[in-house]
Amino acid sequence: MKSILPYFCWLFLLPMAHSQKQICITIDDLPVVSYGIQDSAYWLDITNRLVQTFDFYQMPAIGYVNENKLYQDGQLQSNRVKLLEQWLQAGYELGNHTYAHTNYHRTDFQTYTAGILKGETITRPMTKQYNQPLRFFRHPYLRLGQTKARHDSLQTFLQQQGYTEAPVTIDNEEYLFAKAYHIAYHKKGKAMARQIGKDYVDYMERKLHYFERSADSLFQRPIRHILLLHANLLNAHYLDELADMLLKNGYTFISQSAALEDPVYQRTLSSQAYGDWGISWLDRWALTEGKKGSFFKGEPRVPDYIHDLTKR
Ligand SMILES: [Zn+2]
Repeated sequence: MKSILPYFCWLFLLPMAHSQKQICITIDDLPVVSYGIQDSAYWLDITNRLVQTFDFYQMPAIGYVNENKLYQDGQLQSNRVKLLEQWLQAGYELGNHTYAHTNYHRTDFQTYTAGILKGETITRPMTKQYNQPLRFFRHPYLRLGQTKARHDSLQTFLQQQGYTEAPVTIDNEEYLFAKAYHIAYHKKGKAMARQIGKDYVDYMERKLHYFERSADSLFQRPIRHILLLHANLLNAHYLDELADMLLKNGYTFISQSAALEDPVYQRTLSSQAYGDWGISWLDRWALTEGKKGSFFKGEPRVPDYIHDLTKR
């Protein structure tokens, strides 16, 4: 949360040499990650703040939907459906994140793919109504298959359904900061919440630099990055400061489709890139190149106090 002044300052101070740095902001688990708060005004406030920030920064964000979150006690909640409409009305694309946020590594292929189709029941007609495509898929927990064969069969299914997978290069533990922020904001006081917000943006900058170094080392050039975030209170309050940090680092904001035009996303993963994990595609490309332990050293850690808060 901040005034609009710093944004304009950065705009004029941006060195031209950095103008090739581009990043796509992706927001998962729509409509809202509420940690049990069902109040519709709360969900609306988070959505409003996110969309206003996208507008302000001209950030062509995309939101990945879990349609099971549109229901409460088995009843479809029209106010939650309206939140998705709000994204589309404002011109922001929606993507599929499965119906129930299913982990592919804990589910058989039939059940998982049925969950992908179930996950577009409402979104598909709604995107048509707003003349928007529904064309990108994000794997929950970044679990895309423990083996190349499982990933390949999923890829074939997605292609048949007109979907393209949406990788992530700047993977991070924003969800831990978000849970800590939620607890602090509602129970511990605003001062602690502000500290978490500040530490969150600092942590994300260190993550950005870490993955920039990975990309430079692997490809000797900046790639079009894809950042994973969630639709939570933390980003409702701090996406603007995060955006300023990205601008300060020389980034411009691009859409999901523009990001995927980077040829890096056409690279084939080798069998070493698969395991029972959800990791950045940069790590998967590194494993494909045969990189070992030392390559992955120095990844920024979440502060202990954040872990402590979320464990309570
Ligand atoms: Zn998710």
